[in-house]
Amino acid sequence: MQYDCLMPDADNALRERCIGAAHAVYGNVLPTVVKERLFLELNAIETGHFASRYLIAAEISDQSKRMGYPVTTRGTLGSAFVSRLCGFSAVNPLPAHYLCVKCRYFELADACADERKHGFDLPKKICPHCGAEMRSDGAGILPEILMGKSFSREPAVILNCAPRIRKHLVDHLMNHLDARVIRAGVARRGADGELKKGVHPGGIYIVPKEADISMITAVRESDPDDAFRLPIAVRDYSELQNVLTRYDLLPLPALEWLGDPEQSAGRKTADIPMNDNTLLEACYRFESDVLLSNPKTRAWAKTAAALAKPRCFSDVVALYGLLYGEGTWNNNAEELLRKGIPLCDVIAYRDDVLQCLERYGADRESSLRIMNRIKDGKGLTEADEQRMRRLGIPAWFTDSCKKIGYLFPRSQGVEYAIMNLKLAYCKLNCPDMYDKLSS
Ligand SMILES: [Zn+2]
Repeated sequence: MQYDCLMPDADNALRERCIGAAHAVYGNVLPTVVKERLFLELNAIETGHFASRYLIAAEISDQSKRMGYPVTTRGTLGSAFVSRLCGFSAVNPLPAHYLCVKCRYFELADACADERKHGFDLPKKICPHCGAEMRSDGAGILPEILMGKSFSREPAVILNCAPRIRKHLVDHLMNHLDARVIRAGVARRGADGELKKGVHPGGIYIVPKEADISMITAVRESDPDDAFRLPIAVRDYSELQNVLTRYDLLPLPALEWLGDPEQSAGRKTADIPMNDNTLLEACYRFESDVLLSNPKTRAWAKTAAALAKPRCFSDVVALYGLLYGEGTWNNNAEELLRKGIPLCDVIAYRDDVLQCLERYGADRESSLRIMNRIKDGKGLTEADEQRMRRLGIPAWFTDSCKKIGYLFPRSQGVEYAIMNLKLAYCKLNCPDMYDKLSS
């Protein structure tokens, strides 16, 4: 980036913050898997000079929480353990594991445990040291999903936040960083050749005070109805992607509902169980209501309900991937489920392709390469298909790969499922509050 807004001593600040958070959760002696993942990510972030981005995301999240609202991540950002430790993601990407919150005893789930199962779905277990019931977590997301095969890919910071405080968060950033903030603009030529100017739905640029914006882009006045009241870049955001770092703050009303009922529900949303059957059932029912009320998703909701019948957290996550991906359901997963292929085996996320290939013995590099083709809808090459056959991967799986147009990252599905389970809890336990907020 030519004009990046950098935080002072960012590498050390991020290191301290993450190591402190890791000790607070996992105790004085960090389990090997925690230590390895944390330092792999921190080293990669330092090499790429990305520490400021994580710290800015953390600052946005901290300020949002001070105002009573959580933020959630979109895209692959939640695949990083650092995102979780900084507090702006609810996703724990470690392999499925148990942790005793009383004595900090840590245990990975069985080595042969299925990596498609989220840690929330592990059976209850008592701590062998102190007898307390342990917590389980772990989405089993590889760091390469965000960072790429050589751990050098730039992270895109995309956060969802409560709509009513978005402007406040931007004002806070300007003061805190002593920088100028402008909105990302859209400038595209329509079919008639006319230049259409617009604004990116949530993109902002943080421009250091010493940089001369006029050297980068012309800016125009804020639109009268613009929630941010910020000057807007005239150049299209695609032209500025190597010049300025874009931070996306997207509005998500559900986060307002979660902020308020936290107090009235009488339970911190962080303590809401993610493996409770009543809650899973309610979460699925509420989601179905939303889907059924939309003509575009009504048919999907009906057949998915009949076929998939989610029974655990991992099932709910899989359904979100099938719903929001492209080419994943019609003529693909729907048929496979009818033929009796279990929900956990069908391809719902890009992570599923990677992990299936590795389970059958493919190396990480070619698994990642094939995953990237499939997630972008590029299908399989003849050579890759033959290779997958030789590894013993079933023909229905390779056929399914070829029908996919786009695959979401699992971190986004896990983040979404956690948020919806918390919402379901609030709706069940303080319906009055929920009705008031949603009306
Ligand atoms: Zn214990």
